[in-house]
Amino acid sequence: MMDIVYANALKNSVFDYIANAAKELQLETYVIGGFVRDYILERGKAKDIDIVCIGSGIELAKKVATLLPNTPKIQIFKTYGTAMLRYNDIEVEFVGARKESYTKNSRNPIVEKGTLQDDQNRRDFTINAMAISLNDSNYGNLLDPFNGLEDLKNKIIRTPLNPDITYSDDPLRMMRAIRFASQLNFSIEKKSLASIKKNAKRLEIITKERIVTELNKILLSTKPSIGLNLLFKTDLLQQILPELTDLQGVEVRNGQGHKDNFYHTLEVVDNISKMTDKLWLRWTALLHDIGKAPTKRFEKGTGWTFHAHEFVGSKMVYKIFKRLKMPLNNKMKYVQKLVLLSSRPIVIATEVGDSAVRRLVFDAGEDIDDLLTHCEADITTKNPEKFKKYHNNFKIVRQKIKEVEERDKIRNFQPPITGEIIMKTYNLKPCREIGIIKDAIKEAILDGEIANNYDEAYTFMQKKAKVLGL
Ligand code: ATP
Repeated sequence: MMDIVYANALKNSVFDYIANAAKELQLETYVIGGFVRDYILERGKAKDIDIVCIGSGIELAKKVATLLPNTPKIQIFKTYGTAMLRYNDIEVEFVGARKESYTKNSRNPIVEKGTLQDDQNRRDFTINAMAISLNDSNYGNLLDPFNGLEDLKNKIIRTPLNPDITYSDDPLRMMRAIRFASQLNFSIEKKSLASIKKNAKRLEIITKERIVTELNKILLSTKPSIGLNLLFKTDLLQQILPELTDLQGVEVRNGQGHKDNFYHTLEVVDNISKMTDKLWLRWTALLHDIGKAPTKRFEKGTGWTFHAHEFVGSKMVYKIFKRLKMPLNNKMKYVQKLVLLSSRPIVIATEVGDSAVRRLVFDAGEDIDDLLTHCEADITTKNPEKFKKYHNNFKIVRQKIKEVEERDKIRNFQPPITGEIIMKTYNLKPCREIGIIKDAIKEAILDGEIANNYDEAYTFMQKKAKVLGL
């Protein structure tokens, strides 16, 4: 067979330095993994490059650093025998070729020095096991023992070795397989998919942080439902987000069904992914209906109801983030808030008064636009008439918000009369009455009783103070 040569892949000058360093140290060296895959797929500029050499990766990194202009710092990870340096915004990671063997209870293998072939055997997928030589004798040659190139062409995820061993050895690979399928729009080989399902329970040895990293990558792919569906079919999602899989299924009573809220959710996530790259807005779409499983009731005369599912759902967001060891910070609060408010804009479309609009803008604050984006993504009806009507309703809502905003400036609401002013006017020390007046002013503005300005608020304060006997 003719060798395939990818010398063009090595056009970045960093490869010249690496090849020179390797030559000086007389180390057989290759670029391997994601860089090679993404080069062939033409996925754009690389962010990281993995280099493998037959010998010490740390020695090679040190040598490369001395040759590079400005002698960059290298980070050494002794336990893993790897080293990393940055060159023009690219992270270059160096590792010595290794052979790995696994024990039952850990995804951290016992490692020995090995050949290139050993190192390729330990890689997760055929498309990630391809290497390009940096050695004089065959510079630019593709070394592809498992025919990854063919799998790239056929858009298929396949493991180099027996999938049962690959997935059981390191169960994170199950998440990675699905993540790559979602990112690249590839399918997973049948045997591999069956093996993931068989080994799904092994996910329990993987840290939550790593699971979430993969889940985030799935959520950030163009069509996240590819990955989410695969996670569901292989029983992985049941372990990661049982709250979500609880939404699956349609119950029928007295001839009345409700929609399958799991598949609805996947559609909403796909919809929103066409509208935004914001990870946390995609998370909102993913979790917006989780309150529907615990609140589902069948009420005679009414049918299926999900009372207060937004409130219950927003409480569940906290539990999910905590369990998955995700940061309990303002990102979480943002998701909670949007889940809580997720049904409010619909009401506004049919309401006449402005006060509901003002209250919504007040409650959503900065995130009002994101909330509306979510609501639009939430429209999954297959009835074209309704689809048009609902979208039109949100156009009306956006317009109403714009008008109310221009007039009343409720977003980032700052009370026109501060506690200070109240204290000064009535010669008060901090006390309950100040809070009562401030709150009454805010309510009056939101209700449209007075405009959001100093003069009207001042007059209102005087009235309220009188009532309170100040
Ligand atoms: P991306 O940058 O999109 O995450 P990548 O393939 O570069 O893709 P990395 O996690 O940087 O992903 O891994 C680099 C290479 O290391 C992979 O291409 C693969 O060959 C190998 N690899 C990474 N994780 C594993 C694993 N869990 N099991 C086996 N091989 C792995």
